[in-house]
Amino acid sequence: MRVGIGYDVHRLVSDRKLILAGVEISFHLGLLGHSDADVLTHAIVDAILGAAALGDIGTHFPDTDDRYKGMNSLIFLRDVAAKVRQCGYQIENIDSTVIAQRPKLVPYISEMRARLAKTLDIDVAQVNVKATTAEELGVVGEGKAIVAHAIACLSRL
Ligand code: ZN
Repeated sequence: MRVGIGYDVHRLVSDRKLILAGVEISFHLGLLGHSDADVLTHAIVDAILGAAALGDIGTHFPDTDDRYKGMNSLIFLRDVAAKVRQCGYQIENIDSTVIAQRPKLVPYISEMRARLAKTLDIDVAQVNVKATTAEELGVVGEGKAIVAHAIACLSRL
């Protein structure tokens, strides 16, 4: 069994969509980034890559590469799941936490889990997403950014 962790942060700005786990969230701000800036999916990608000792999202999908501009990050996730399977691993489970002061993410959690599970080709019971606030502390608490943490457990196929 192998375990990996992932962390990501993106700045909240106007004139961008807010996408988390491939789900478009209704909010007046969105996350800034080269791709769709899906902070939760990026953390999960890094957790999976970490568990397989395959580096990180930046080495696989560099933000200097125009192919990834505005990219749906679920494509990164699907590609990474395929990579670890090629290396002889299967995904046992994913756990994750999104830290956002606003908006309320609870109404979107089940759809996020379903999107992630479908993309990873695993059961929804193998994917967990938790949402919390930063208690109005720091840059996340001030509503300037959203942070995500993830952990992935892989086993040998
Ligand atoms: Zn990111």
